[in-house]
Amino acid sequence: MSKTVRRSLAGLALAASATAVPVVASAQDAGAGTPLRATAVLHGPGGFAEARPRSTGGTEAPDSPSSSTGAGSGNSTGPIFPIRGRHRYGTGSAAFGGGRGHQGQDVFAACGTRLVAAIAGRVSQATYQSAAGNYLVVDAANGTSQTYMHLARPATVQEGDRVDAGDPIGVVGQTGDAEGCHLHFEFWTAPGWYKGGKPVDPLPRLRRWDAQD
Ligand SMILES: [Zn+2]
Repeated sequence: MSKTVRRSLAGLALAASATAVPVVASAQDAGAGTPLRATAVLHGPGGFAEARPRSTGGTEAPDSPSSSTGAGSGNSTGPIFPIRGRHRYGTGSAAFGGGRGHQGQDVFAACGTRLVAAIAGRVSQATYQSAAGNYLVVDAANGTSQTYMHLARPATVQEGDRVDAGDPIGVVGQTGDAEGCHLHFEFWTAPGWYKGGKPVDPLPRLRRWDAQD
């Protein structure tokens, strides 16, 4: 997203408080109907191994140590770069703080490129908004939030779901106010997205995770 999204952040805050149940239902349907989930199992050498089955409702889904292939750091829930394909970082108005108050970093990738949760947490938003398009917010255990916007289709997870780092969440798109296929990624300090936290420049983290891939 570039410029007009900033005007609509109040709208996003509204979306945060007014959760539309029918939207959630359609997101779930879309998720179940697409082949996306089936693709989550590849990535042999990369690190993350399997898509955890969708946890329904609030039942606890214990962390499964078996979800690690043993590659990488050995921490199965460590941060993972969210775009699973070729990408490039936006600059200028597509960078954090670009224009007037761009609250995230745009990372361009082909529409349809798989997205995974960068950090484990609970999905607090998974809906559509005119500026953000299809988007979701994940609240991590430490209170920070990660926001993923402009997905091509509704997120393949739904509000209340718990996700591990590396779990599929959808695919890159340009829904909402977006020019060109990209992920708009935000990182909010605790206590999180429109809950008192503040957006910080996510680029250093993104680059670090990218380099660890
Ligand atoms: Zn953006």
